[in-house]
Amino acid sequence: MYQAKEIDCLRRALKRLSGANPNLPGFATEPDWGRIEAVLDTVAERMQDNYPYHHPLYAGQMLKPPHPIARLAYALSLWVNPNNHALDGGRASSAMEKELIPRLSAMWGWEECLGHLTGGGTMANLEALWVAGQLHPGRSLLGSSQAHYTHSRICSVLGLDYASIETDTEGRMDLGELEAALASGSVGTVVVTMGNTGLGAVDPLPEILVLRERYDFRVHADAAYGGYFGLSSKLADRTRRAFDSLNAADSIVIDPHKHGLQPYGCGSIMFRDPSVGRFYKHGSPYTYFSSADLHLGEISLECSRPGAAAVALWATMQLLPPEPRGEFAGMLDDCLDAARSLHAALASSPSFSPVHTPELDIVVYAATAAATSEASKLAREVFEAAADKDLHLALIELPVAMVADALPDSTRDSDSVTCLRSTLMKPEHAAWIDEIVSRLETARNSV
Ligand SMILES: *Cc1c(COP(=O)(O)O)cnc(C)c1O
Repeated sequence: MYQAKEIDCLRRALKRLSGANPNLPGFATEPDWGRIEAVLDTVAERMQDNYPYHHPLYAGQMLKPPHPIARLAYALSLWVNPNNHALDGGRASSAMEKELIPRLSAMWGWEECLGHLTGGGTMANLEALWVAGQLHPGRSLLGSSQAHYTHSRICSVLGLDYASIETDTEGRMDLGELEAALASGSVGTVVVTMGNTGLGAVDPLPEILVLRERYDFRVHADAAYGGYFGLSSKLADRTRRAFDSLNAADSIVIDPHKHGLQPYGCGSIMFRDPSVGRFYKHGSPYTYFSSADLHLGEISLECSRPGAAAVALWATMQLLPPEPRGEFAGMLDDCLDAARSLHAALASSPSFSPVHTPELDIVVYAATAAATSEASKLAREVFEAAADKDLHLALIELPVAMVADALPDSTRDSDSVTCLRSTLMKPEHAAWIDEIVSRLETARNSV
């Protein structure tokens, strides 16, 4: 979990950092190190009460350990504690944020865009939907029934109408239902999820873009989870086409704290048309003094933001540039391989049945049973029994129609089915699939 080398690297960098401002007179405050040590020990004790997120046998929710470079750069910057609201609060880290945005958007081929980091995907989506509402006042928003649950809540905060479109059995937005909704109403924006949280399914963006020609709406791509997968060379053809058309979206959200190896507190929003910056205009009387250059607070809804997040992401992108066929892209390929081998193993198991063909690195599977209610009960029991064997999974509740193909011999006696869900976000997962499957089977046999 922790390597002594990390602390050596940090010590060295801190020494270099302390070379700033050589002419300032020294001053010292001496905290009570004994008490600090004691409290920190208590914290370490308390923090043991967590799942082992860093380990390949944690194969449940979307949790991925930050890369050491991100952890170290973040920690290093805390000795400055920059605030990326304004250049007054963080000159170096604001410059890093401005440099990294075009490098992120280059992943889908945008050369010039307006964007910034946010506290996470929810805040980033809020900004995107806020701009959408400013551009199309009175028009509604649509997303799929597997879109992130926060979209409807964000719309309620913003006072915008939001409706859900059903998905097909793979979890992708249904095009027939979408077109019917577009034809009947005044839709301003369609939220297209590029890798949904439940199944990792990618909505049919190229086909939705064709509909945009006819119905004139904005396309917001929620790529919070899946955005980085555009770098992979192992996507299925239809998924590849969806990512290849991402540059036609109007706004894109991607979360570096999901697949970008960052600690929490790092989402991002980018707009294809930089002129939407006009909506952010405000006249703060006290924040911008140091420079006439654009301050990030002038294009962000949040005021204070951690410069540390920008420093960590900038450092990570230096070490692992987000480029096709690079080392970082290879890590995403490994995650896809892991998902495909887990899917293949489950497809040949009598105890489990995959609910979909994984498009990204999320695998959802049902426990086979005589009835769907029994399959739900078994999934919950396997979830508990696996945790006892140090294999940590997640659960997802799906409409019975989405699970029917996976459980063809089960009586349908429930409206929804609880299924097991494994997010295989760590490249190390690929080498652990046999062990994961063996523990899964043991857990199934024990319930
Ligand atoms: C995680 C996620 C979000 C929310 O992002 P947070 O960073 O958790 O606020 C939104 N959309 C999708 C598709 C996600 O996977």
